Amino acid sequence: MTGKRALVVLAHQEKTSFSYAMKEASLEALKKRGWQVTVSDLYAMKFNPVLSRDDILGDPEDPNNFKYSPEASKAWKEGRLSKDIVEEQKKLEAADLVIFQFPVYWFGLPAILKGWFDRLLTQGFAYSMQGMFDTGNFKNKKAILSFTTGGMESMYTPAGINGDINVILWPIQQGILHFCGFQVLEPQISYSIAHTPPEKRSMILKAWQERLGKIWEEKPISFVPNENFDLTFPGGFVLKKEVVEKESDNKYGLTVGQHLGKPLPCDNQVKGGSTRL
Ligand code: FAD
Repeated sequence: MTGKRALVVLAHQEKTSFSYAMKEASLEALKKRGWQVTVSDLYAMKFNPVLSRDDILGDPEDPNNFKYSPEASKAWKEGRLSKDIVEEQKKLEAADLVIFQFPVYWFGLPAILKGWFDRLLTQGFAYSMQGMFDTGNFKNKKAILSFTTGGMESMYTPAGINGDINVILWPIQQGILHFCGFQVLEPQISYSIAHTPPEKRSMILKAWQERLGKIWEEKPISFVPNENFDLTFPGGFVLKKEVVEKESDNKYGLTVGQHLGKPLPCDNQVKGGSTRL
């Protein structure tokens, strides 16, 4: 993979953690294959996850009625975003592949990583009104969530006490990554890692390294392509009538989000492959 660049974003406090070991495994495997790798170790960097007025240098456009999104977008265009945001945006811009390594906190991202998304994905830099989902600014980049859980795999099934992992992944994979255009690869999930025997943990690290050897060739997870929606304001950005009609005989919904009131398609957010559309 000569010439390809990867960014590994780690959100864990401890070097003795399994998440840290996964990050180290990524670096080793990718470098061995000729990738240039950069790391953002968010806790080590003491990354500030709190979005605020301080993200914007100079005078705000409207200090009495401050609106973060337009102010940040203007500041991005004019080179007035704070230094820590700009440094991370440069790393992200340079990357072909981004790996997010984190422990699941409260069915979602650790706050430090959520804040990294909040502060970095500025309108204009990551997306625009014309450029979102398929056409988002990062459409030529690939991203993968690699995470550990406390809960067992069975707990994250449709009958499990935590509920279907596909539902938990939708807001992150569709709402953040795909929204900004990323091609989202199958997540790497290390379930119940603290209760996994040490030998099995070593095997998980090895399997991850093997997967990384061919990661660039993987088929991404499928989302409904933009062309299937009426992307006008009167149209309301909903599926076109003809698409809904075509789907009427299908037993399952299209995706976790566009389920059309039917059962969710199995493994929609955990398996790559082609969409019906
Ligand atoms: P660790 O617990 O650090 O490591 C697991 C084991 O791997 C340890 O024994 C460690 O010594 C060992 N290890 C480290 N390096 C290696 C190596 N190189 N080779 C082999 N073994 C190694 N869980 C859920 O399922 N759902 C939730 O909603 C959820 N919410 C949470 C909210 C909060 C605020 C917190 C703190 C935890 C939550 N958890 C939840 C649990 C959390 O997701 C897990 O504790 C976490 O994912 C475990 O991953 P870790 O990297 O911290 O592993």
